[in-house]
Order: sequence, then C-alpha cells, then structure tokens
Amino acid sequence: LSDRLGGVFDRLTKQGALSEDDVRTALREVRVALLEADVSLPVARDFIKAVERKATGQSVTRSVTPGQQVVKIVHDELIAVLTGEGDPGALRIDNAPAPILMVGLQGSGKTTTTAKLAKRLKERDRKKVLMASLDVNRPAAMEQLQILGQQIGVDTLPIVKGEDPVAIARRAKTQASLGGYDVYLLDTAGRLHIDADLIAQAAQVRDAVNPRETLLVVDGLTGQDAVNVATEFDDKIGVSGVVLTRMDGDGRGGAALSMRAITGKPIRFVGLGEKMDALETFEPDRVAGRILGMGDIVALVEKAQQTLEAEQAERMMKRFQKGQFNMNDLKMQLEQMMKMGGLQGMMQMMPGAGKMAKQMDEAGLDDKILRQQVALINSMTKMERANPQLLQASRKKRIAAGAGMDVADLNKLLKMQRQMSDMMKKMGKMGKGGMLKQAMK
Ligand code: GDP
Ligand code: MG
Repeated sequence: LSDRLGGVFDRLTKQGALSEDDVRTALREVRVALLEADVSLPVARDFIKAVERKATGQSVTRSVTPGQQVVKIVHDELIAVLTGEGDPGALRIDNAPAPILMVGLQGSGKTTTTAKLAKRLKERDRKKVLMASLDVNRPAAMEQLQILGQQIGVDTLPIVKGEDPVAIARRAKTQASLGGYDVYLLDTAGRLHIDADLIAQAAQVRDAVNPRETLLVVDGLTGQDAVNVATEFDDKIGVSGVVLTRMDGDGRGGAALSMRAITGKPIRFVGLGEKMDALETFEPDRVAGRILGMGDIVALVEKAQQTLEAEQAERMMKRFQKGQFNMNDLKMQLEQMMKMGGLQGMMQMMPGAGKMAKQMDEAGLDDKILRQQVALINSMTKMERANPQLLQASRKKRIAAGAGMDVADLNKLLKMQRQMSDMMKKMGKMGKGGMLKQAMK
C-alpha cells in the first residue's frame, strides 16, 4: 500500500494545486487501500464520501503539498471514526460483583481474552476476579479456562458436569456474591457461524445475570465477516464493546473501521498474541496508521505544516503562477527542506522513499549540498537573487569565492533554478506542489 499511496502522492505533487478531480483520483486509490485492508465495501464507500466532502471544502493552497493534505485528512477522519466515547479501557465494574459477558464465534479468542482481561483487572485494577466457562459444547473448553486461571492466579468456578449454561451463570453469580468477588467473567460457547441456538443461549445467560458489560470478541483477521457478526450479536444480545483479537498478525485491521462505522460500538481492546499479557487498550491512531499502511507521512505533514507559513506559501504561489521563480524562491525551498530534517529526514518519512532516495543519490544531493546551495545564494546580492540571469563570469567568481566554492557548483545551482523556473512557466496556473520533487532532480 505504501507504494500505492506513494503513487498518489507522486501524481498529486506533479499536478500541483488540489482540484476536486485530484481529490477524487487520490481517494479512489485510498478506497482500494481500504478494501485491501478488509474494510467492508459500504463502509469504505461512505468513508470516502465523508473525506471527499471535507477535502474539497478545505483551503488547499495553504497546504504543503496537496497529496500530503489528502492523506492527512484521510488519516484524521479514520481516527475520528475509530474513536469511541470515553476511555476504551475503563470497564463498568462498580457494584460488585459486576458481571462481564464474553460473546463471539468459536475460535475468535473468547476464552483467551477472558483470561487476559481477568489478569488485567486483577493486576491493574486490583480487583478480585472470578471466571466461569459456560462452554458446554466443546470438550475440554472448561478445563482450558481453568488452566489459564491457574496460570494467571485467578479463580475459576468449579466445574460441574452436566449443567447447562444458564445454570452455570447463576452459580457463578451466587459464588461471586458469596466469595466477595468484584467482577465475574462469563466465557460463553461459540459456534462457527451465528445460529439461532447460539443467540438464544447467550440471550438466556444475559437475562440470568444482567451483565454490566457484554464484550463481543471478534477475530481481527476476518474482515468483512466481522461486521455481520457484530451486527447480529448487537441486534440480538446487545453489545457494549468489541475486542479485536489477532491484531498481531499480518491483517491490516480493516475490521475495526467496519465495525465502528456499522455498529457504532466502541472497540475496547485489541489482542496482540497468545500470551496472557498480550491485550492492549484500543488506540485509534495506531490502528488508523495500520489500516492505511502509510508509515509516518502524517508526522511529516504535521511537521511541514508547522514550518511552512501559509502567507508565505500564498505569496509564492502567486509569483509561481506568473512563472516567476528566482533565487529567493529557491532559497526558501532549500531552507524548507532543511527544516524538515533535511532530505534524508524527509525521505525516511515518505512512502515510496526508496525511489526518491535513489534519484537523490544519482543527483548527488544530500544535506551538505543543501547547505552549500544556500550559502551560494547568501553570497549573492539582493539584485542578483531576484535576477539570476544577470550573473556573468565576474559575478559568478565573486559569489562562488564568497561561499567558498567553485564556479562549477554555482553553475549547477543556476541550472537548477533555470529548470525550476521553466517548470513553473510550464505549469502556469498550477501551484507549488511540484517544486520539491523538481528540486531534487
Ligand atoms: P474461543 O473459541 O473463542 O474461546 O477461542 P480461544 O480463546 O480458544 O482462542 C483460539 C485460538 O486463538 C487459541 O489458539 C488462542 O491462543 C488464539 N488467540 C486468541 N487471541 C489471540 C490473539 O490476540 N493473537 C493470536 N495470535 N492468537 C490468539
Ligand atoms: Mg472458548
């Protein structure tokens, strides 16, 4: 995906100013990226529409580059959708004993998550926790929870064979009260698919204990399916939050976006492995970055937005539109690059960096050269900077000497300025976006 967004970026920077069409083109790529991350189709579509509205409404001339701005808007919107109300890690566990019901399909990670959560409640919240397995379907399911309980030092309800789930739930409730537990976690049985039986059973359990939290455990790798599961469980049982498991894998976590968008339920935790402490509070920005797979481009944009003054940009724009690009402009561009951590620093933050880094290498460009170029410009008079075509042999000698460099170096700089000036003329009405790239050629 980095390549894909890198491509969008390239195209936009080449085109300069951000038009409605540009936004649409970029978002088409973003849409594909979302689908690749397993975001469901209708969600991806709605999301893109929302971003399109925002992007087109924004004043784009003040941005650093249009491509970056689109990516930033996409990222911000992703976070906005992913963020639920309140602290995802804060479970409602007052009024002891507080029941927490764990539901989900078989194999989604319910039992593992139940134990992880119990450990967290015990260690972080200093709660006295009881766990009970209501899984009467799968052989050894109850023992699985018992073993995990021993491992993490959390009590489990004694196993009584032949009991039905509702009876176990009631017994857990009684035991929790009598034993002075703060919280009791009920790990239910799952099926491979949602069926009426599974739902009815979970509903009975729910009615028997009236849980404070009903957490739906969903395999983060299931993508599209996850949404159907979440909708069904929420409609029939009522879900207060979602836990996404297997977020340690290769999956890009698009399920998170789908689920938030469709169910509106907060994502509370993510499972990041099989170990008992591999459970973390959900962090929207981390998942957003992962869904887009775009590295630190957002950080780059923020940094750039801080350093580039909008007014300055606008002034330059106007000049460029007239095809003017002198040494002052070039100097500003070069300084801009240095502020952003130099070329190398910028490269590292950009998708598709490999290609550009190579180009730079070939052009012999690095931070030292940037500084030398600025030194050359500094050694020119005001008039020379504004009118570089004035530079004849004697002036060149003086300038190069002043910067401690050769005339050949100055000639290179002049060539670059001429090329950029030509490019500006060609681009005509288009803006500043392309310069960075051209500057590096
Ligand atoms: P249940 O059927 O819903 O109770 O699922 P289990 O808790 O028994 O988990 C099924 C399998 O998934 C087990 O092998 C777990 O170790 C594994 N698992 C659960 N959560 C995670 C996770 O966050 N990451 C990874 N990699 N594996 C997990
Ligand atoms: Mg289980």
